[in-house]
Amino acid sequence: MSPITGKTKIIGILGYPVEHSFSPVMHNNAFARLGLDYCYVPFAVQPAQLKAAVSAIRALNLVGVNVTIPHKETVMPFLDEISVEAEMIGAVNTIVNDKGKLIGYNTDGQGFVQSMRAETGIEALDKKIIILGAGGAARSVAVQLALNGAREILIFNRNQERAANISAIIKNKTNCSSTAFAIKTETLTEVFENTDILINTTPVGMYPHINEKPPVPCELINKNMLVCDLIYNPIETDFIKAAKQRGAMVMSGLGMLLYQGALAFNLWTGQEPPIEDMRQALIDFFNG
Ligand code: NAP
Repeated sequence: MSPITGKTKIIGILGYPVEHSFSPVMHNNAFARLGLDYCYVPFAVQPAQLKAAVSAIRALNLVGVNVTIPHKETVMPFLDEISVEAEMIGAVNTIVNDKGKLIGYNTDGQGFVQSMRAETGIEALDKKIIILGAGGAARSVAVQLALNGAREILIFNRNQERAANISAIIKNKTNCSSTAFAIKTETLTEVFENTDILINTTPVGMYPHINEKPPVPCELINKNMLVCDLIYNPIETDFIKAAKQRGAMVMSGLGMLLYQGALAFNLWTGQEPPIEDMRQALIDFFNG
C-alpha cells in the first residue's frame, strides 16, 4: 500500500461486525497494484449509529463505502438516490459520494452475473433457473438474472413466504416467470426437468458445516447444467464436488465475491479493476 498522505482518498465498509470482512484486503491490494492513492478501511457501525455514519460519508468527504450485514436494507432511507437494481432488490451494498450526493447501488447480483459470464461463458438469457434459499443473496441474484432475461426462476425455501416475496418482485417488474415453493425433495424432483442453472444461496455446506449439502437428489444433476454455490468458504463445497462428479459445469461463490467488489471498485475510481490480483488477494486471505 502507498504511504497515507494528505491527498489519500478514503473508502470504507460499514458493517457490524466487520472485522472478518475480506473487502479491505481485496481493495487495498487493487489500489496498490494500480498505484492509486486510495485506502479502504473497516468501520464497525452499530445499527443505532447508522444514520450518523452515513452523514459522516459526506462530512469526512469519503469517496464511498461498501455496506454489509446488518445495514444493507436499513441504509436506504438515508441516501439521496438509489439505482434501479438496488431499488428492486431492496438492498444497497455500495454507496458513491458524488460531491455530497450519496448514491446507493447493489453490485451483488451483477457480480454473480459477471462471474458466470467470465467463468463459464453462460448468460441468463432464456434460461430456466432453480434457486435454493430466499435470503438477501438470493434476492439480489434472482432479480439480476430476471433483469438479464432469464425465462423462468423457481425459488425453493424453508420459509415459502420469503420465496414468494422474491417471486412477486420478479413477476411484477420483469418479463421472467417465477414460482415459489417450500423446499422439499419431492417438489424439486417434480419441477426439475430442463433446468439450465441450479444455484444454492443457502449457507448449507458453509464452514464449519462443510459436510452438509442442500437437499437436491444428485441424480437430478446432469452434464447439461450449470451448478453454482454462493458459498466461498470453502471455495469448493460438497455440493459443488457432487455436481462435478455428475459431469455438470460448476461455479463457486468466490467469483461473485470478486466481481461485486470489482464493480464497486469501478464505481468509486472509474478505473478497470485488476481482477486477477483481486482474486489472488482473496485466495491468499482465505488460505490465511
Ligand atoms: P440470509 O439472508 O440469512 O438467507 C439465508 C437463506 O438460507 C434463507 O432463505 C434461509 O431460509 C436459508 N437457510 C438457512 N439455513 C438453512 C438450512 N439449514 N436449510 C435450508 N435453508 C436454510 O443469508 P444471505 O445473506 O442470503 O447469504 C446466504 C449465503 O450466501 C451465505 O452462505 C453467504 O456466505 C453467501 N453469500 C455469498 C456471497 C458471495 O459474494 N459469494 C454474497 C452474499 C452471500 P429461511 O428463509 O427459511 O430462514
